[in-house]
Amino acid sequence: MKCIFIFWLAVVLFTITSCSKLKEKDKFAKASAPNIIFLIGDGMGLSQISTAYYFGDEKSNFSRFRNIGFHRSSDLKYKVTDSAAGATAFAIGQKTYRRAIGVSIDSIPQENILEFLQKENYKTGVVTMTSITGATPAAFYAHAVHRDMNEDIATYLVDADIDLVIGGGRQYFNKRKDGKNLILSLIEKGYLVDTLELSKPDFNRQNVYLLADDNMPSRIAERGDMFAKATRTALDYFEQSPKPYFLMIEGAFIDWAGHGNDAEMLVEEVEDFDKTLGILIDFVEKHPNTLLVVTADHETGGASLAKKYHDTEVFGRKKLIPDEIELSFNSKEHTATLIPVFAKGPGAEDFQGIYENNDIYHKLISVYQANKNK
Ligand SMILES: [Zn+2]
Repeated sequence: MKCIFIFWLAVVLFTITSCSKLKEKDKFAKASAPNIIFLIGDGMGLSQISTAYYFGDEKSNFSRFRNIGFHRSSDLKYKVTDSAAGATAFAIGQKTYRRAIGVSIDSIPQENILEFLQKENYKTGVVTMTSITGATPAAFYAHAVHRDMNEDIATYLVDADIDLVIGGGRQYFNKRKDGKNLILSLIEKGYLVDTLELSKPDFNRQNVYLLADDNMPSRIAERGDMFAKATRTALDYFEQSPKPYFLMIEGAFIDWAGHGNDAEMLVEEVEDFDKTLGILIDFVEKHPNTLLVVTADHETGGASLAKKYHDTEVFGRKKLIPDEIELSFNSKEHTATLIPVFAKGPGAEDFQGIYENNDIYHKLISVYQANKNK
């Protein structure tokens, strides 16, 4: 009798332990869908990144990556793309025409990665220092035939169900031609909207920050550490999230420095980007189930780091300044040079090699697929 009792006790105990182990595994399965942070440095080619190594004061955070590749940024029609087609390729996985926002070559709206992951129970965030309706962020939530349709793009944001939005472009929400006030629409939907400052987000709600009428100041002297602060705010918010998340962050002004052939601004902007990159890498190292992918939509300015010469000529020739380099430009526009891609976290090795810009979308989706049930 005693023996039988002990036998049944053993069976019951065994069952309880297996069940709790199973539950633990279940919990792990839910937690294992990777968080994805996608950082885009608009206009940031290899020469731009190189400035961090020749003009920067500290060791560059780009050195902390081991998985590095290149993408070809051309759009479907032209070798030299723009930010709209560039970001759309990342967002929908298809090359398209310049000026397109989240639509295919025949202007048909396509599901973007943010919409796809929302259906897979992801939270989402979009952060930029320019207008939130600008081409790069817009490609991740809107579908428009032309990037200049700022007011239409703003309408998409109201219905996009994004959990955290930080950027400028307030005027496209509250000073519209149709007289609508989309800030009120967002509030009616339950969003916490701040149009004045980067206040602490409400972790239990969706938050939208519209911090400038159009773009935030393009100069560090006026913007200060706004980019790093916005990034930290987003990380603090998503760190609380019980669900996995997809967060797109755009550093916008490297592109502007390229268009302006402004070497000083370019160096400053890359430094600012590098600082923010450090914050992101520290975060990913603390949260290993987070994939960080860093790239650009295209290069801007045809920047190069060439030998430096004195301005004055001696016997009809300019004299070389030994061991000094100069950041120079050969274009005021975008260029077709291959663009570096850096990755860290689950699936980072998939980003090695040379591929097309739209392959990045497919790589992100396949990292998700491969890791969601692990
Ligand atoms: Zn540009």
